[in-house]
Amino acid sequence: MSERVRLKYCPVGAVSEIGASAHYLQFDRWGVLLDAGLDPHHALQDGVPAYDLLYDRPVNAILITHAHLDHIGSLPVALQRFPRARVYMTPATAELTEVMLHHYLHVQRKQAMERWQPYRPLYSEEYLDMIRYLFQSFDYEAPFWLHGYEESGLRFTFYDAGHILGSAGVLIEWRGRRLFYTGNVRLSAQFILKGARLPDSVDVLITEATYGADAEAETIRRSAEVKRFARHLSERLRMGGVVLLPVFALGRTQEMLMLLHRLRQKNQIPAVPIYVAGFGLAINRLYDRMLHKIYPEYHRGQLRTITFGRWSRGRHLRGPAILISTSGMLLPGSASFDFARQLAEDARNAIFFVGYADPETPGGLLREKKFEALKELFQVDRLECGVEVFRFSAHAHRRELLKLIKRLQPSQIILTHGEKPALQWMAEHIPDVLPDGQVLIPESGTWYDL
Ligand SMILES: [Zn+2]
Ligand SMILES: [Zn+2]
Repeated sequence: MSERVRLKYCPVGAVSEIGASAHYLQFDRWGVLLDAGLDPHHALQDGVPAYDLLYDRPVNAILITHAHLDHIGSLPVALQRFPRARVYMTPATAELTEVMLHHYLHVQRKQAMERWQPYRPLYSEEYLDMIRYLFQSFDYEAPFWLHGYEESGLRFTFYDAGHILGSAGVLIEWRGRRLFYTGNVRLSAQFILKGARLPDSVDVLITEATYGADAEAETIRRSAEVKRFARHLSERLRMGGVVLLPVFALGRTQEMLMLLHRLRQKNQIPAVPIYVAGFGLAINRLYDRMLHKIYPEYHRGQLRTITFGRWSRGRHLRGPAILISTSGMLLPGSASFDFARQLAEDARNAIFFVGYADPETPGGLLREKKFEALKELFQVDRLECGVEVFRFSAHAHRRELLKLIKRLQPSQIILTHGEKPALQWMAEHIPDVLPDGQVLIPESGTWYDL
């Protein structure tokens, strides 16, 4: 008689929105937390996953898939709660996590000061310095045992997820059963990242579904989008304008720099200075240090050579030039917000959106060309600059996700990291590629037997 191994699952973070990712798995006496995210849209404590649910459960390891805040932001809180847990991630994620968490605190403090509010962070800088030694890193496709003991019977392997530097999917093997968690995944190549690698077939799949409800994403051909981008960019630069790309610091900044570099090499855009401002510069340095270890064809320090180092007063606002800056959503108080305001009145300039912007933010308003609301926010009389939107995603679109599911042939599929319509579309279409697959859209805080 074969003994059915007890495998329990509980999503302690968000499921049907893109917020705090955190999934708990219990394998008999061992417990594993996949990601320890934070939802930046909620007030501090409310953005933390419900770690209370695990008060009487073992948490022996925390596996981190990548260094975006919705996957790492509550890691210090989790470690306060589960002080015996080891933290496993890839070497690049370990470096990025430290920098990202410190920066998160820095932004929190700055915002509190600007709003004359007390600064009460979830954790302190000192605590961040203390937990760094708990991070253990493992390369892609190099399996390792929980706590290094084969006796635990629990084996992990990271696979390149193709999302940002260091991003990984996690394969967990336990007494003949195989479970794969995608983290955030992109199957096809970006400009730096090469696209995800996957394990052989698995029994249980926990997958993101970010673009499940996005019918447009699957119609975008990247090469056509690059051509359109190059054409619009060249037009503006020939007019002598400055083109601002508001971008996220981690991932998009570096991908766009590499794209600009290639376009310039092929003479598809004019050779003008490219400036990078804000936190993206710190992340560039990490890419420059770590990238060649994963992809040997990139030489160390390559991103640095693409940017124009010499800043002088106002020079970056004199065209023709390209300006890359955080935040991606033009949040008030950010560098990109100030640049956008300064560039807005001149019709030669343009703002190109190359990533997501929440509709409520200034970036979202500008994308939708809601100029009236923005004039007040920017305190300008005219909004004459051009606005263009391009789609260069770091996530798989929904057909790619179906392809991933078909390849992995799981008997059970758990859908997360997407709005409700996205999860539903996926649930409806998975039977097309995997008729016998059992699909679960879990409820946050609910326990499931797998
Ligand atoms: Zn991400
Ligand atoms: Zn995410």
